[in-house]
Amino acid sequence: MNTGLYWFTHDLRLDDNPALQQAARQCDYLLVVYVQDPSLERPDTFNTARLGSKRKHFLIEGLHDLAQQLQTCGQQLHCLTGNPVDVLTDLISQLGIDRLYCTRPVGWYEQRQLSELSHRFPHLQPVTADAYTLFDQAQMAELLDPFPVSFSAFRRRVEKKLTLPAPLPPVRDFPPMPRVAIDAAAPILKPDTADNGWFKGGELAAQTHLQRYFSSSLPATYKQVRNELDGLDNGTRFSPWLAQGSLSPRRVMRQLQQYEQRETANESTYWIFFELLWREYFQWYARHHDHRLYHLHGIQQRSPLTSFYPQRFKSWCEGSTPWPLVNACMKQLKATGWMSNRGRQIVASCLVNELALDWRYGAAWFEQELLDYDVASNWGNWQYLAGVGADPRGKRRFDIAKQTRQYDPQGDFIHRWQGEAQTLALDHVDAADWPIPVRH
Ligand SMILES: Cc1cc2nc3c(=O)[nH]c(=O)nc-3n(C[C@H](O)[C@H](O)[C@H](O)COP(=O)(O)OP(=O)(O)OC[C@H]3O[C@@H](n4cnc5c(N)ncnc54)[C@H](O)[C@@H]3O)c2cc1C
Repeated sequence: MNTGLYWFTHDLRLDDNPALQQAARQCDYLLVVYVQDPSLERPDTFNTARLGSKRKHFLIEGLHDLAQQLQTCGQQLHCLTGNPVDVLTDLISQLGIDRLYCTRPVGWYEQRQLSELSHRFPHLQPVTADAYTLFDQAQMAELLDPFPVSFSAFRRRVEKKLTLPAPLPPVRDFPPMPRVAIDAAAPILKPDTADNGWFKGGELAAQTHLQRYFSSSLPATYKQVRNELDGLDNGTRFSPWLAQGSLSPRRVMRQLQQYEQRETANESTYWIFFELLWREYFQWYARHHDHRLYHLHGIQQRSPLTSFYPQRFKSWCEGSTPWPLVNACMKQLKATGWMSNRGRQIVASCLVNELALDWRYGAAWFEQELLDYDVASNWGNWQYLAGVGADPRGKRRFDIAKQTRQYDPQGDFIHRWQGEAQTLALDHVDAADWPIPVRH
């Protein structure tokens, strides 16, 4: 008789979850666990939290939904609090766990946690599988050697050589739970009623959104609207659920292929795949470059020209820069946890080029504020825009005035998010934080 432990991480779903499927098949008893790490909510290296309040709310909704689904299958989600490695170490020792199952981690910290557990329990045989990406490690091994220097090189190789794996059906049959009481298990917090606008966490909400999107005509016009600054329908808006793991990228692709067979296949439908490939590229990029994802010099070992101006960073975060479009985007992010891709490019370029700040502060602010924060996509895109990442062309500079004319010609977006500039001066304090006198 063996007892397994399934550790839920960024894979809060029953659908297309290969490691969960193996656990359900191979174990006589199974304990399913999620560990909430409170240290993520405290200010970190860049004085920001790795988990902000909006994403925490979205996460609680996701956990609640998962717990309810497991309950209908006779299983219980145990939600524990603490450092994941310590919490799991206690559980494994106390319950005599034979096998540990989880989705293969992408982030460097998460990979280290798993290695630490393997080190502490050599007998454990952690079973990992890829649920966060389109392709799995076995498919990728050959393709990534050597690692493609650019997204285009990656895309060409993938399109030429790989076949998309089919998504697995949801797991419904689980082994029983071990007959033990878990002292430290806290009840999953009930989500409060405040809503995250367009987004509600969890697999059920993700599936509802997926069905809604692909039963509309939106996929056929995706490419024409994807650069708009606002609007639920001007993009797929799958990213928060993909980041939470309550939606499988392979399930999205399956729906896309069915849409193409049923309705139409055109440049727009191809472009949804194209963007998912960007996401895919950054996931393997993060695994390949591990801690270099967070280095100031990035993967290029280039030295960005930067200093730290606290007042400039504060203005950027709160949306009080001299650039109304940047302000509107930043205020939208603060209020909703959301910003369009075009908005993210513009505000990142502003931080790097106009404000001459260290790009990692921008990435850390996004980590705290974004609902769809994903370690690989966030830090990978920031590196790219800062000219220290995967962009062969080096640093990108977005002309903010031109972008404003092109994407907000009537000023509607700026007005909606009250982005109108309060000041035209970039610096209104001096180096010692004293206000610079204004000349009249
Ligand atoms: C500075 C910066 C930081 C970013 N941080 C994140 C992040 O933390 N999490 C995140 O999911 N995306 C991030 N992105 C990528 C992109 O902005 C979002 O994925 C996109 O806006 C999500 O909206 P959507 O789901 O409607 O995307 P769509 O346009 O509908 O695209 C479909 C899917 O493709 C993927 N995708 C699209 N563009 C990109 C891209 N440039 N890089 C990686 N994946 C992409 C997403 O999973 C998205 O859901 C960042 C981009 C920039 C420029």
